[in-house]
Amino acid sequence: MILTVNCGSSTLKYKLFSGNVSEVRAEGQISRIGGPDASIRHIAGEFRTDKKARIRDHRDAFALMTEMLHTHAGRSPGDLSDIEAVGHRAVHGSDLFTESTVITEAVIHKLEQTIPLAPLHNPPNLTGIREAMKLFPDVPHVAVFDTAFNQTMPEKAYLYALPYELSQAHTLRRFGFHGTSCRYVSLRTAEMLSAPVTNLRIVVCHLGNGVTVTAVSGGKVADTSIGFATLGGAMMGTRSGDIDPGLVFHLHRNLGMSLTEIEEMLYRKSGLLGISGVSNDMRVIEEEAAEGNARCRLAIEMFSYRVRSYIGAYAAAMGGVDALAFTAGIGENSPRIREDVCANLGFLGLTLDHDRNTDTVHGQECIISRDDSPHHVVVVPTDEEKMIALDTCALAGPGPVSDIKTVKEK
Ligand code: AMP
Repeated sequence: MILTVNCGSSTLKYKLFSGNVSEVRAEGQISRIGGPDASIRHIAGEFRTDKKARIRDHRDAFALMTEMLHTHAGRSPGDLSDIEAVGHRAVHGSDLFTESTVITEAVIHKLEQTIPLAPLHNPPNLTGIREAMKLFPDVPHVAVFDTAFNQTMPEKAYLYALPYELSQAHTLRRFGFHGTSCRYVSLRTAEMLSAPVTNLRIVVCHLGNGVTVTAVSGGKVADTSIGFATLGGAMMGTRSGDIDPGLVFHLHRNLGMSLTEIEEMLYRKSGLLGISGVSNDMRVIEEEAAEGNARCRLAIEMFSYRVRSYIGAYAAAMGGVDALAFTAGIGENSPRIREDVCANLGFLGLTLDHDRNTDTVHGQECIISRDDSPHHVVVVPTDEEKMIALDTCALAGPGPVSDIKTVKEK
């Protein structure tokens, strides 16, 4: 069996896969770690529990996870010695990691070096790695980086036009995020179209609370919308996406806002929330727009327009688009947004089939372009955990097992 672990600042998410990653035996999430009433969810086959308890720290959370897996681990309860390897989601690998890696002391040391680039994410990731290594000391552990796939980007795309020496000295560059999701979705898209990913130019629209549009050409990232931090790019739930950096100076110097206030505004009060004034949740915004709320309509128009603009830019960057893939909460579940995004994309050979787009079934992959559309539009439910498990399996488990080709085979 392969265990995947995703450790956030106050959460622990885990999934236990069968050895060939074809089946999820158990999964769970412990949230609000450190608070008096952490919420605990564990599902294994027919068994399901939702409860609250005091979980002091990640160590307690890991102990609870092990206990629950031990008692309710699907078809083979009680025997965690079946776990062959553990895969960890690692948010930021800077430019130090270009692919998934078996964790050694040297890897942990490099991960510690990346903390300043992801101060909120990398410390809990490291805690998770250390705790899991204590609990499962005899199996290999693998780190799968959100940033690794984007390391395949060419210099002309990842560099900012800042003084070159400064960028080199301090690793000031576009890192991109949602790389694990994007890699999974591009590989599945190629599978769906029965074409090798190396022959395709794909634009992946990861549209969730965070939004990333990524151009994948020949299995490598040609460009991606998010940059150094998680703030730039397309419009997001509460984040502004691209703005002119000159605006920050104006807000500070002429409107008297402190840097902390500007940061709070750009990260938490902008995007869909800032424009609609109602919510960052697209479901709410769509409902309100349908009832005539003009700012919610505007939020939808702006959101779709910006994603569409990135698609156009990336089509130009790659010399065309063979497939457009939608994923994540909004991309998988909102026919309205997919339709808006695809409006006017006929000139790229991407034409939606209205009925296919509206009739998608939650959780299922499907082609939503018309049969006579020269190129394809698809919906692919993302599965970062599966991607992590597949990499883990290939690097440290029984070997590549996938229906989709993952990391370099050893
Ligand atoms: P994620 O970050 O991938 O979990 O996506 C979260 C976002 O997906 C939420 O903010 C919702 O706005 C959006 N979402 C989920 N379901 C739907 C739906 N049925 N229609 C529109 N948006 C949705």
